[in-house]
Amino acid sequence: MLPAEQQPDWRDHAAYAAARRTLMRAAPLALPTEIAELRGQLAAVAAGRARLLQAGDCAESLAEQTPRHIDDKISALDALGDLMAARTGQDVVRVGRIGGQFAKPRSAATEQYGGSELPSFRGHMVNSEEPSPEARQHDPRRMVHAYGAAARVADHLREVRHQRAAAGDPPAASGPWTSHEALVVDYEGPLVRSTPDGREYLASTHLPWIGERTRQPDSAHVEMLAAVQNPVACKIGPGAGPAEVVRLCGRLDPERSPGRLTLILRLGRTRAAEVMPGIVDAVRNAGHPVIWAVDPMHGNTERTPGGIKTRHLRHIAEEAAVFLQVLERHGAHPGGLHLETAATDVTECLGAGVRGERALNRRYTTLCDPRLNPEQAHELIRMLFRP
Ligand code: PEP
Ligand code: MN
Repeated sequence: MLPAEQQPDWRDHAAYAAARRTLMRAAPLALPTEIAELRGQLAAVAAGRARLLQAGDCAESLAEQTPRHIDDKISALDALGDLMAARTGQDVVRVGRIGGQFAKPRSAATEQYGGSELPSFRGHMVNSEEPSPEARQHDPRRMVHAYGAAARVADHLREVRHQRAAAGDPPAASGPWTSHEALVVDYEGPLVRSTPDGREYLASTHLPWIGERTRQPDSAHVEMLAAVQNPVACKIGPGAGPAEVVRLCGRLDPERSPGRLTLILRLGRTRAAEVMPGIVDAVRNAGHPVIWAVDPMHGNTERTPGGIKTRHLRHIAEEAAVFLQVLERHGAHPGGLHLETAATDVTECLGAGVRGERALNRRYTTLCDPRLNPEQAHELIRMLFRP
Protein backbone atom coordinates (compact mmCIF):
# COMPACT_ATOMS: atom_id res chain seq x y z
CA MET A 1 0.00 0.00 0.00
CA LEU A 2 1.47 3.36 -1.02
CA PRO A 3 1.46 6.24 1.46
CA ALA A 4 -1.83 8.14 1.71
CA GLU A 5 -1.85 11.51 3.47
CA GLN A 6 -4.89 12.99 5.19
CA GLN A 7 -6.69 9.72 5.96
CA PRO A 8 -9.26 9.26 8.75
CA ASP A 9 -8.20 7.38 11.85
CA TRP A 10 -10.93 4.76 12.08
CA ARG A 11 -9.52 1.35 11.22
CA ASP A 12 -10.09 0.15 14.80
CA HIS A 13 -13.71 1.28 14.80
CA ALA A 14 -16.20 -1.60 15.27
CA ALA A 15 -18.14 -0.56 12.14
CA TYR A 16 -15.14 -0.22 9.81
CA ALA A 17 -15.26 -3.61 8.07
CA ALA A 18 -19.04 -3.55 7.60
CA ALA A 19 -18.94 -0.04 6.10
CA ARG A 20 -16.33 -1.13 3.57
CA ARG A 21 -18.35 -4.23 2.66
CA THR A 22 -21.43 -2.09 2.09
CA LEU A 23 -19.48 0.13 -0.31
CA MET A 24 -18.04 -2.85 -2.15
CA ARG A 25 -21.55 -4.16 -2.85
CA ALA A 26 -23.05 -0.76 -3.61
CA ALA A 27 -24.28 0.22 -7.07
CA PRO A 28 -21.99 2.43 -9.18
CA LEU A 29 -22.88 6.15 -9.12
CA ALA A 30 -21.04 7.12 -12.30
CA LEU A 31 -21.48 4.74 -15.24
CA PRO A 32 -18.87 3.85 -17.88
CA THR A 33 -21.04 5.30 -20.67
CA GLU A 34 -21.35 8.60 -18.81
CA ILE A 35 -17.63 8.70 -18.09
CA ALA A 36 -16.90 8.14 -21.79
CA GLU A 37 -19.35 10.88 -22.78
CA LEU A 38 -17.76 13.39 -20.40
CA ARG A 39 -14.30 12.42 -21.61
CA GLY A 40 -15.40 13.23 -25.14
CA GLN A 41 -16.71 16.61 -24.07
CA LEU A 42 -13.49 17.35 -22.21
CA ALA A 43 -11.48 16.38 -25.28
CA ALA A 44 -13.23 19.28 -27.03
CA VAL A 45 -12.15 21.57 -24.17
CA ALA A 46 -8.57 20.34 -24.44
CA ALA A 47 -8.69 21.02 -28.20
CA GLY A 48 -9.77 24.63 -27.58
CA ARG A 49 -13.33 24.23 -28.83
CA ALA A 50 -15.21 24.42 -25.50
CA ARG A 51 -14.83 25.42 -21.86
CA LEU A 52 -15.07 23.67 -18.52
CA LEU A 53 -16.83 25.18 -15.52
CA GLN A 54 -16.35 23.28 -12.27
CA ALA A 55 -18.08 24.85 -9.29
CA GLY A 56 -19.86 24.19 -6.03
CA ASP A 57 -19.36 23.82 -2.30
CA CYS A 58 -16.00 23.52 -0.62
CA ALA A 59 -17.63 20.83 1.51
CA GLU A 60 -21.13 19.50 0.84
CA SER A 61 -23.39 19.08 3.84
CA LEU A 62 -25.31 15.89 4.58
CA ALA A 63 -27.95 18.21 6.02
CA GLU A 64 -28.56 19.90 2.64
CA GLN A 65 -29.64 17.04 0.45
CA THR A 66 -33.31 17.60 -0.37
CA PRO A 67 -34.30 17.64 -4.07
CA ARG A 68 -34.79 21.38 -3.63
CA HIS A 69 -31.20 21.87 -2.45
CA ILE A 70 -29.92 19.86 -5.40
CA ASP A 71 -32.12 21.74 -7.88
CA ASP A 72 -30.90 25.06 -6.52
CA LYS A 73 -27.29 23.98 -6.95
CA ILE A 74 -27.89 22.77 -10.51
CA SER A 75 -29.66 26.03 -11.38
CA ALA A 76 -26.82 28.11 -9.95
CA LEU A 77 -24.23 26.08 -11.88
CA ASP A 78 -26.26 26.41 -15.08
CA ALA A 79 -26.77 30.14 -14.72
CA LEU A 80 -23.03 30.59 -14.31
CA GLY A 81 -22.34 28.23 -17.23
CA ASP A 82 -24.80 30.10 -19.44
CA LEU A 83 -23.09 33.40 -18.64
CA MET A 84 -19.66 31.91 -19.33
CA ALA A 85 -20.92 30.52 -22.65
CA ALA A 86 -22.39 33.88 -23.64
CA ARG A 87 -19.22 35.77 -22.71
CA THR A 88 -16.72 33.34 -24.28
CA GLY A 89 -18.80 32.33 -27.29
CA GLN A 90 -18.03 28.65 -26.55
CA ASP A 91 -19.96 25.67 -25.19
CA VAL A 92 -19.46 25.14 -21.48
CA VAL A 93 -19.22 21.70 -19.88
CA ARG A 94 -20.81 22.00 -16.43
CA VAL A 95 -19.35 19.99 -13.58
CA GLY A 96 -20.49 20.39 -9.99
CA ARG A 97 -18.43 19.98 -6.87
CA ILE A 98 -21.37 17.80 -5.95
CA GLY A 99 -22.48 14.26 -5.18
CA GLY A 100 -19.47 13.24 -3.10
CA GLN A 101 -17.59 16.37 -1.99
CA PHE A 102 -17.81 15.23 1.63
CA ALA A 103 -14.15 14.91 2.73
CA LYS A 104 -11.65 17.67 3.43
CA PRO A 105 -7.87 17.68 3.76
CA ARG A 106 -6.79 19.92 6.63
CA SER A 107 -3.51 21.73 7.26
CA ALA A 108 -3.74 21.00 11.01
CA ALA A 109 -4.91 17.81 12.72
CA THR A 110 -6.52 19.76 15.57
CA GLU A 111 -8.09 23.15 16.09
CA GLN A 112 -8.78 25.33 19.12
CA TYR A 113 -12.37 25.82 20.10
CA GLY A 114 -13.38 27.84 23.14
CA GLY A 115 -10.13 27.11 24.91
CA SER A 116 -10.03 23.37 24.18
CA GLU A 117 -8.30 21.44 21.45
CA LEU A 118 -10.49 19.35 19.15
CA PRO A 119 -9.75 17.10 16.17
CA SER A 120 -10.28 19.17 12.99
CA PHE A 121 -13.52 18.87 11.06
CA ARG A 122 -12.76 16.70 7.99
CA GLY A 123 -16.04 16.73 6.10
CA HIS A 124 -19.29 14.90 6.71
CA MET A 125 -17.87 11.66 5.32
CA VAL A 126 -15.52 11.56 8.31
CA ASN A 127 -16.88 13.56 11.28
CA SER A 128 -19.22 16.36 12.29
CA GLU A 129 -18.49 20.07 12.48
CA GLU A 130 -20.12 20.19 15.94
CA PRO A 131 -17.45 21.39 18.38
CA SER A 132 -17.38 18.45 20.78
CA PRO A 133 -14.87 15.61 21.19
CA GLU A 134 -17.57 12.99 20.46
CA ALA A 135 -18.78 14.68 17.28
CA ARG A 136 -15.22 15.02 16.00
CA GLN A 137 -14.51 11.28 16.27
CA HIS A 138 -13.91 9.70 12.86
CA ASP A 139 -16.83 7.37 12.15
CA PRO A 140 -16.67 4.97 9.16
CA ARG A 141 -20.49 4.65 9.10
CA ARG A 142 -20.43 8.19 7.71
CA MET A 143 -19.00 6.79 4.45
CA VAL A 144 -22.24 4.85 3.99
CA HIS A 145 -24.33 7.96 4.69
CA ALA A 146 -22.23 9.96 2.24
CA TYR A 147 -22.65 7.24 -0.38
CA GLY A 148 -26.45 7.32 0.12
CA ALA A 149 -26.56 11.10 -0.34
CA ALA A 150 -24.26 10.88 -3.36
CA ALA A 151 -26.50 8.21 -4.89
CA ARG A 152 -29.54 10.49 -4.63
CA VAL A 153 -27.60 13.34 -6.24
CA ALA A 154 -26.34 11.05 -9.02
CA ASP A 155 -29.90 9.86 -9.79
CA HIS A 156 -31.20 13.41 -9.79
CA LEU A 157 -28.49 14.71 -12.11
CA ARG A 158 -28.96 11.74 -14.46
CA GLU A 159 -32.66 12.57 -14.66
CA VAL A 160 -31.82 16.20 -15.51
CA ARG A 161 -29.38 15.12 -18.25
CA HIS A 162 -31.95 12.75 -19.73
CA GLN A 163 -34.66 15.41 -19.73
CA ARG A 164 -32.34 17.81 -21.48
CA ALA A 165 -31.31 15.25 -24.08
CA ALA A 166 -34.97 14.39 -24.71
CA ALA A 167 -35.82 18.07 -25.10
CA GLY A 168 -33.06 18.33 -27.71
CA ASP A 169 -31.10 20.90 -25.70
CA PRO A 170 -27.97 21.97 -27.52
CA PRO A 171 -24.72 20.37 -26.35
CA ALA A 172 -23.74 23.88 -25.23
CA ALA A 173 -25.38 22.99 -21.93
CA SER A 174 -23.65 19.63 -21.45
CA GLY A 175 -23.86 18.13 -18.01
CA PRO A 176 -24.46 18.52 -15.15
CA TRP A 177 -21.75 16.06 -14.17
CA THR A 178 -20.43 15.19 -10.71
CA SER A 179 -16.94 15.70 -9.29
CA HIS A 180 -15.20 15.65 -5.92
CA GLU A 181 -11.75 15.36 -4.41
CA ALA A 182 -10.94 11.63 -4.26
CA LEU A 183 -9.45 11.88 -0.78
CA VAL A 184 -10.62 9.05 1.49
CA VAL A 185 -9.05 5.89 0.13
CA ASP A 186 -11.38 3.71 2.24
CA TYR A 187 -14.33 5.20 0.35
CA GLU A 188 -12.94 5.46 -3.17
CA GLY A 189 -11.14 2.11 -3.21
CA PRO A 190 -14.28 -0.06 -2.90
CA LEU A 191 -15.91 2.03 -5.63
CA VAL A 192 -13.26 1.24 -8.22
CA ARG A 193 -15.12 -1.10 -10.56
CA SER A 194 -14.44 -2.97 -13.79
CA THR A 195 -16.15 -2.62 -17.16
CA PRO A 196 -17.15 -5.81 -19.03
CA ASP A 197 -13.95 -5.51 -21.07
CA GLY A 198 -11.93 -5.50 -17.86
CA ARG A 199 -10.93 -1.85 -17.60
CA GLU A 200 -11.21 -0.05 -14.29
CA TYR A 201 -13.24 3.04 -13.58
CA LEU A 202 -14.02 4.99 -10.45
CA ALA A 203 -17.76 4.65 -9.87
CA SER A 204 -17.99 7.28 -7.11
CA THR A 205 -18.03 10.28 -9.48
CA HIS A 206 -17.56 11.30 -13.11
CA LEU A 207 -14.53 13.54 -12.61
CA PRO A 208 -12.41 12.82 -9.52
CA TRP A 209 -9.55 15.14 -8.64
CA ILE A 210 -6.44 14.90 -6.50
CA GLY A 211 -5.87 17.70 -4.01
CA GLU A 212 -2.77 19.81 -3.48
CA ARG A 213 -1.93 17.90 -0.28
CA THR A 214 -2.12 14.38 -1.73
CA ARG A 215 -0.61 14.75 -5.21
CA GLN A 216 2.82 13.26 -4.44
CA PRO A 217 3.67 11.23 -7.60
CA ASP A 218 4.11 8.08 -5.49
CA SER A 219 0.98 8.50 -3.39
CA ALA A 220 -1.93 6.09 -3.14
CA HIS A 221 -4.12 8.85 -4.58
CA VAL A 222 -2.10 9.22 -7.77
CA GLU A 223 -1.88 5.45 -8.17
CA MET A 224 -5.64 5.08 -7.77
CA LEU A 225 -6.54 7.71 -10.37
CA ALA A 226 -3.78 6.56 -12.71
CA ALA A 227 -5.55 3.18 -12.91
CA VAL A 228 -9.05 4.34 -13.87
CA GLN A 229 -10.65 5.41 -17.15
CA ASN A 230 -12.38 8.52 -15.80
CA PRO A 231 -11.24 11.95 -16.81
CA VAL A 232 -9.18 13.10 -13.82
CA ALA A 233 -7.91 16.40 -12.47
CA CYS A 234 -5.09 17.42 -10.18
CA LYS A 235 -4.61 20.60 -8.18
CA ILE A 236 -1.24 22.30 -8.56
CA GLY A 237 0.00 24.72 -5.89
CA PRO A 238 2.87 27.23 -6.02
CA GLY A 239 5.37 24.79 -4.51
CA ALA A 240 5.19 22.41 -7.48
CA GLY A 241 8.18 22.62 -9.78
CA PRO A 242 7.82 22.05 -13.55
CA ALA A 243 9.63 18.68 -13.37
CA GLU A 244 7.31 17.46 -10.65
CA VAL A 245 4.24 18.48 -12.65
CA VAL A 246 5.59 16.70 -15.75
CA ARG A 247 6.11 13.57 -13.64
CA LEU A 248 2.51 13.77 -12.47
CA CYS A 249 1.34 14.15 -16.05
CA GLY A 250 3.37 11.07 -16.96
CA ARG A 251 1.59 9.06 -14.26
CA LEU A 252 -1.92 10.38 -14.92
CA ASP A 253 -1.82 10.83 -18.70
CA PRO A 254 0.76 8.38 -20.08
CA GLU A 255 -1.13 8.08 -23.39
CA ARG A 256 -1.29 11.84 -23.89
CA SER A 257 -5.01 11.65 -24.43
CA PRO A 258 -6.99 14.91 -24.84
CA GLY A 259 -9.70 15.16 -22.16
CA ARG A 260 -8.03 12.74 -19.78
CA LEU A 261 -6.19 15.21 -17.53
CA THR A 262 -7.11 18.64 -16.23
CA LEU A 263 -4.47 20.57 -14.31
CA ILE A 264 -6.14 22.95 -11.88
CA LEU A 265 -3.64 25.68 -11.04
CA ARG A 266 -4.16 27.29 -7.62
CA LEU A 267 -1.00 29.30 -7.35
CA GLY A 268 -2.17 32.43 -5.53
CA ARG A 269 -2.26 35.92 -7.01
CA THR A 270 1.18 36.83 -5.69
CA ARG A 271 2.92 33.77 -7.18
CA ALA A 272 0.99 32.93 -10.34
CA ALA A 273 2.85 35.18 -12.81
CA GLU A 274 6.22 33.88 -11.63
CA VAL A 275 5.41 30.16 -11.32
CA MET A 276 2.98 29.50 -14.13
CA PRO A 277 5.08 30.00 -17.32
CA GLY A 278 7.61 27.31 -16.33
CA ILE A 279 4.85 24.79 -15.69
CA VAL A 280 3.02 25.54 -18.94
CA ASP A 281 6.22 25.28 -20.98
CA ALA A 282 7.33 22.03 -19.37
CA VAL A 283 3.96 20.29 -19.76
CA ARG A 284 3.60 21.35 -23.38
CA ASN A 285 7.15 20.29 -24.20
CA ALA A 286 6.37 16.89 -22.69
CA GLY A 287 3.43 16.59 -25.09
CA HIS A 288 0.54 16.33 -22.63
CA PRO A 289 -2.66 17.85 -24.10
CA VAL A 290 -4.00 18.85 -20.68
CA ILE A 291 -6.91 21.13 -19.98
CA TRP A 292 -5.52 24.18 -18.23
CA ALA A 293 -7.88 25.26 -15.47
CA VAL A 294 -7.56 27.87 -12.76
CA ASP A 295 -8.79 27.65 -9.17
CA PRO A 296 -8.26 31.28 -8.17
CA MET A 297 -9.64 30.71 -4.68
CA HIS A 298 -7.40 28.38 -2.66
CA GLY A 299 -4.24 30.45 -3.07
CA ASN A 300 -6.04 33.60 -1.94
CA THR A 301 -7.58 32.70 1.40
CA GLU A 302 -6.98 35.02 4.35
CA ARG A 303 -8.30 35.81 7.80
CA THR A 304 -9.87 39.08 8.87
CA PRO A 305 -8.47 40.74 12.01
CA GLY A 306 -11.40 39.09 13.83
CA GLY A 307 -10.30 35.66 12.57
CA ILE A 308 -12.91 35.00 9.86
CA LYS A 309 -11.65 33.01 6.88
CA THR A 310 -12.42 34.93 3.70
CA ARG A 311 -11.34 35.79 0.17
CA HIS A 312 -11.51 39.05 -1.79
CA LEU A 313 -13.28 38.93 -5.13
CA ARG A 314 -10.64 41.31 -6.56
CA HIS A 315 -7.81 38.95 -5.53
CA ILE A 316 -9.66 36.02 -7.10
CA ALA A 317 -10.15 38.02 -10.29
CA GLU A 318 -6.49 39.06 -10.26
CA GLU A 319 -5.18 35.49 -10.21
CA ALA A 320 -7.66 34.35 -12.86
CA ALA A 321 -6.62 37.27 -15.08
CA VAL A 322 -2.95 36.29 -14.77
CA PHE A 323 -3.92 32.74 -15.77
CA LEU A 324 -5.66 34.03 -18.91
CA GLN A 325 -2.75 36.30 -19.83
CA VAL A 326 -0.05 33.67 -19.41
CA LEU A 327 -1.94 31.12 -21.52
CA GLU A 328 -2.63 33.70 -24.18
CA ARG A 329 1.08 34.49 -24.37
CA HIS A 330 1.81 30.77 -24.73
CA GLY A 331 -0.87 30.32 -27.39
CA ALA A 332 -2.67 27.81 -25.15
CA HIS A 333 -6.40 27.54 -24.44
CA PRO A 334 -7.57 28.71 -21.00
CA GLY A 335 -10.09 25.87 -20.86
CA GLY A 336 -11.23 25.62 -17.27
CA LEU A 337 -12.50 27.65 -14.36
CA HIS A 338 -12.80 26.00 -10.93
CA LEU A 339 -14.69 27.89 -8.22
CA GLU A 340 -16.15 27.46 -4.77
CA THR A 341 -19.67 28.78 -5.03
CA ALA A 342 -22.92 28.69 -3.08
CA ALA A 343 -26.37 28.58 -4.65
CA THR A 344 -27.69 31.08 -2.11
CA ASP A 345 -26.87 34.62 -1.12
CA VAL A 346 -24.10 33.82 1.40
CA THR A 347 -21.68 36.43 2.74
CA GLU A 348 -18.40 34.55 2.94
CA CYS A 349 -16.17 36.36 0.42
CA LEU A 350 -15.66 40.13 0.19
CA GLY A 351 -16.65 42.20 -2.84
CA ALA A 352 -19.71 42.86 -5.02
CA GLY A 353 -21.79 44.29 -2.21
CA VAL A 354 -20.21 42.42 0.70
CA ARG A 355 -18.07 45.02 2.48
CA GLY A 356 -16.24 44.73 5.77
CA GLU A 357 -15.94 42.12 8.46
CA ARG A 358 -19.40 42.78 9.90
CA ALA A 359 -21.03 41.99 6.56
CA LEU A 360 -19.35 38.58 6.55
CA ASN A 361 -21.20 37.57 9.69
CA ARG A 362 -24.63 37.97 8.10
CA ARG A 363 -24.89 34.69 6.21
CA TYR A 364 -21.64 32.80 6.73
CA THR A 365 -22.75 29.17 6.51
CA THR A 366 -19.93 27.29 4.78
CA LEU A 367 -18.72 24.10 6.43
CA CYS A 368 -15.17 24.83 5.34
CA ASP A 369 -13.84 27.45 2.89
CA PRO A 370 -15.61 30.73 1.96
CA ARG A 371 -17.68 30.50 -1.24
CA LEU A 372 -18.72 33.12 -3.78
CA ASN A 373 -22.42 33.92 -3.78
CA PRO A 374 -24.18 33.99 -7.18
CA GLU A 375 -23.76 37.74 -7.59
CA GLN A 376 -20.04 37.55 -6.86
CA ALA A 377 -19.55 34.57 -9.17
CA HIS A 378 -21.38 36.34 -12.01
CA GLU A 379 -19.36 39.49 -11.45
CA LEU A 380 -16.17 37.42 -11.68
CA ILE A 381 -17.21 35.90 -15.03
CA ARG A 382 -18.10 39.36 -16.35
CA MET A 383 -14.72 40.74 -15.28
CA LEU A 384 -12.77 37.87 -16.87
CA PHE A 385 -14.54 37.35 -20.16
CA ARG A 386 -15.39 40.44 -22.14
CA PRO A 387 -17.21 39.55 -25.35
C1 PEP B 1 -10.49 22.27 -2.14
O1 PEP B 1 -10.67 22.26 -3.37
O2 PEP B 1 -11.41 22.47 -1.33
C2 PEP B 1 -9.11 22.10 -1.63
C3 PEP B 1 -8.85 21.64 -0.43
O3 PEP B 1 -8.21 22.49 -2.54
P1 PEP B 1 -6.61 22.31 -2.58
O4 PEP B 1 -6.35 20.83 -2.58
O5 PEP B 1 -6.25 22.97 -3.86
O6 PEP B 1 -6.04 23.02 -1.38
MN1 MN C 1 -11.94 24.49 -0.36
